[in-house]
Amino acid sequence: MAKITPQKEDFSKWYLDIIARADLADYSAVKGCMIIKPYGFALWENIQRALDDRIKAKGVKNAYFPLFIPESFIKKEEEHVDGFAPELVTITHVGEKELGEKLYVRPTSETIMYDAYSNWIKSYRDLPLLVNQWANVVRWEKRTRPFLRTTEFLWQEGHTVHATEAEADEWTISCLEMYQDLDKEDLAIPVITGTKSEAEKFPGAKYTTTTEALAKDGKAIQAGTSHQLGQGFAKTFGIEFTDENEKQQLPWQTSWGLSTRIVGTLIVVHGDDGGLKIPPKIAPIQAVIVPIFRTPEEEELVRKECLKMEAELKEAGIRVELDDRTEKTPGFKFNEWELKGVPVRIEVGPRDLAKDEVVVARRDTGEKKSILLGKVASTVTFLMLDIQKNMYEKALEFQQKNTHEVFDYEKFKKIIKENPGFIKAGWCGDGDCEAKIQAETKATIRCLPFAYAGQAKGECIYCKKDATQIGLFAKAY
Ligand SMILES: [Zn+2]
Repeated sequence: MAKITPQKEDFSKWYLDIIARADLADYSAVKGCMIIKPYGFALWENIQRALDDRIKAKGVKNAYFPLFIPESFIKKEEEHVDGFAPELVTITHVGEKELGEKLYVRPTSETIMYDAYSNWIKSYRDLPLLVNQWANVVRWEKRTRPFLRTTEFLWQEGHTVHATEAEADEWTISCLEMYQDLDKEDLAIPVITGTKSEAEKFPGAKYTTTTEALAKDGKAIQAGTSHQLGQGFAKTFGIEFTDENEKQQLPWQTSWGLSTRIVGTLIVVHGDDGGLKIPPKIAPIQAVIVPIFRTPEEEELVRKECLKMEAELKEAGIRVELDDRTEKTPGFKFNEWELKGVPVRIEVGPRDLAKDEVVVARRDTGEKKSILLGKVASTVTFLMLDIQKNMYEKALEFQQKNTHEVFDYEKFKKIIKENPGFIKAGWCGDGDCEAKIQAETKATIRCLPFAYAGQAKGECIYCKKDATQIGLFAKAY
């Protein structure tokens, strides 16, 4: 079997090797659109479930809106249409007949949802309106890569309407915190949160907040985003409500989303030269049992113990798989499950069984240990927690080690070129400096971190004028 390209040799190639070899996705006949294979989809479903639970716990209800958007809707919001125009797919004909009004395949659903909202909302009693949809969207991208950037992708988009600005602000942040919590607790991904600069915010939003993770190649990648939309969309789509004093008011809105890109994020944050590493909480398979035997007598004994162990682990709530394929060697299976990122592997052979033992190997550290048969369920249950915790700590250590505080532009350029990661640097707030830094280094402001808000001191890394804020710079996916 061909070797996986090492990360250090060619990170992009490593990524594509993992996608193919771990059986996550396949290319399709339509350029830029991927086929998500069962193992990749099971992973997405586990993330989806973890997020959907959180969304519902906030009192949000799921709904579904049409895939097609009338041209007039999209054209209503100028800033919004400009932001998406180059990637919009347009439908002009049905059969031979030309449509009276063109339709667009949704790149996002603000416009079609808010047209409906204008009919649903009449009074302050209808607020807040809290709706989320799980859907596919289409943006015709020039350069695509499975999960990280695809023409069609899956996501959730939440769209809420509030009576006051303060409430919309609070909601925007609470959704960002929801993503941060999902990233940390379920995906074992540490993120830095903050607001986007004007240049990087969502088209039509008042402001955008984001969670930024750091990939193993030193590039930033978004892991959930939440926008305060202000009153612009409400004005455009005629969403109004009568307040307690019988006065007509414009409401405030938010939208927030997370897409299948998160699967790509998971790969580039945790993966290594051996393949995927999936945190136990969202792993489609948490533990795999591999039987080892030579003779028919050994096979019978080993198989009996394996079946017993499988039942015990299921009983303990572990997503376990018994790999009883007879055409593959144990060595082949070890390799394959390691590649697929399964957190725990249990090796069951006659020599260990004679001592009432099996061997347990963990994917995160590579550590192998003999344990007593009676302790398999309790050990695996403990490992689920320990691996989850360890993966987060390792990722956090990497992020911290690769975050540099920089005061000198020459040093900034050198780091981005030779050893990329997050760079904390002063910024004057001028979009010109931001654009020039991007043109010269390809690094952009990933966010203006909340953690450093109001802490700006010294000068702008580019123009040397007084810094008004600290920016988190990086090259990005
Ligand atoms: Zn400047």
